[in-house]
Amino acid sequence: MRSLLLLTLVAILPCCSPVAGPSGSSSHGGLDEWGNRPGPQGFRTVIIDAGHGGHDSGAVSRHTGQKEKDLTLDLAKRLRSELGSSFRTVMMRDNDRFVDLDDRVAFANRYPDAILVSLHFNAGPSHLSGPETYYWRVDSHGLAVRCHKAMKSLASDSRSRKMVRRRLRLTRNPGIPCLLLEGGYLSNAQEARKIASPAYRQKLAENIASAIRSQSAHGDAGTGARPAFIKAPPSRPTDAPE
Ligand SMILES: [Zn+2]
Repeated sequence: MRSLLLLTLVAILPCCSPVAGPSGSSSHGGLDEWGNRPGPQGFRTVIIDAGHGGHDSGAVSRHTGQKEKDLTLDLAKRLRSELGSSFRTVMMRDNDRFVDLDDRVAFANRYPDAILVSLHFNAGPSHLSGPETYYWRVDSHGLAVRCHKAMKSLASDSRSRKMVRRRLRLTRNPGIPCLLLEGGYLSNAQEARKIASPAYRQKLAENIASAIRSQSAHGDAGTGARPAFIKAPPSRPTDAPE
């Protein structure tokens, strides 16, 4: 039923409501609510999503014993402090509680003039290290470029990970510019120890905040060509894990 309604909206919106966002906002400018528009400029609200929480620990580092859910909350609080004076920040969670991914999307959509940054730490084969930035929407590309560059500048490995266009629930489903940032691999011994350092997480927060400030000040200027719009259905729980 939901998908039927969605298909109907897809069919209707481009012809009759070219600038309207999901809740009628046109503040991000551009073509349509599916992200086929330039990246945001002049925004003042940032939704900070600390990944995982509660019974969902996320990745657990076998090198440091740290849980992703605790590190994302710590990073989220640091990012809030960094952005605090110049932006209105909204925390998806500010304690150790579980929030369903679809509920995170619904929450974000209550702020049509905002951007959403979802914070995570990675796990995988032990040789992998470095930050990764996931985006899907066209209007999130410039912000992704800025945030990835900001995180990558802290990576010790020059082969550090890439910016990836991937349809995830937190990159495809919100009706606002949105990113999922992986601040490094907890499964890599060297990087896990680096992430365990509060000073490193502080620097990570400062750099991400700087990238967000640049996007608000300059929009997509200097971030390269925007990718082509891809029409695709919302990401579902049955898709690949995030
Ligand atoms: Zn995660």
